Amino acid sequence: MDVSIVVPLFNEDESLPELCSWIESVATTHQLSYEVILVDDGSTDDSWKVIEEIHQHNNRFRGIKFQRNYGKSAALNEGFKAAQGDVVITMDADMQDSPDEIPELRRMIVEEGYDMVSGWKKKRYDNTFTKNIPSKIYNAAARKSSGIMLHDFNCGLKSYKRKVVKSIEVFGEMHRYIPILAKWAGFRKIGEKVVEHRPRKYGVTKFGWNRFVNGFLDLATIMFLGKFGKRPMQFFGLLGTVFFLIGFIASIYLVIAKFTVADFALTNRPSFYIALTTMIIGMQLFLTGFIAELVARNASERNAYLVEKKLD
Ligand code: UDP
Ligand code: MG
Repeated sequence: MDVSIVVPLFNEDESLPELCSWIESVATTHQLSYEVILVDDGSTDDSWKVIEEIHQHNNRFRGIKFQRNYGKSAALNEGFKAAQGDVVITMDADMQDSPDEIPELRRMIVEEGYDMVSGWKKKRYDNTFTKNIPSKIYNAAARKSSGIMLHDFNCGLKSYKRKVVKSIEVFGEMHRYIPILAKWAGFRKIGEKVVEHRPRKYGVTKFGWNRFVNGFLDLATIMFLGKFGKRPMQFFGLLGTVFFLIGFIASIYLVIAKFTVADFALTNRPSFYIALTTMIIGMQLFLTGFIAELVARNASERNAYLVEKKLD
């Protein structure tokens, strides 16, 4: 099969018929053998009924329905598991992403040899202040910390080699950082394509103002996990030692001063309390490191590696 199109959706019953007939016409025009996996992320409207009707009419449109709303990452992860095409393309269900981009996104994977191609909504049709500006800052932070030079990490429209989606696991809210997950899995050829972005025609956005707070927290998590997930003590231990030593040296100085300087009132000095606190913080960081090591050693995927080739 040429291409699998994975569409995560939550309460998008109005958009679905139009989106699906558009995908169908693009795929037919370009003579692609395809499947569309519609992942209903626990919609409470008529989305699933619409999906059933679409499936009746054309069984290349498949559906997966969650019992409740788990989030876009979970929906993508299930879609990726089910996808069988050589190229896997993801797109949002709200028709902000245009199915007309499918052939070119696929061509870049097949002919130019990209592992993954991310869309770039160069001209965005979203509210400037609540989305566009925070999004610029957030993308800059993601570029800086991951070394992947993309303008638009969180674009819903992306294409992948099948092998890429089978090698990564999208969980929590990590759909914003799939390029980073792909890079970790060893896929380095990550491209970008300017894609058409359209205003939302039906329904409302499913992510509120907290998307950016969460986005930054998740970025911090993902960078930490990537670097120290398997050796947390090297992070906490170093930090803890530095803190402890600062406090320890300061207290030694203060104790010496107490015995050598006349009328030295140790407990009247703010530095005394700061030194104590620093030592306590250092000790706690160190202990956190031990606990984190215990947790990491018990993780079921602690020895899961992606083996590319073998000679026996
Ligand atoms: N979505 C989902 N589960 C959720 C929230 C969103 O599957 O919990 C889907 C949603 O239906 C849409 C896509 O993720 O197809 C992007 O969501 P949205 O358009 O609301 O985000 P925005 O375009 O505002 O960034
Ligand atoms: Mg949208």
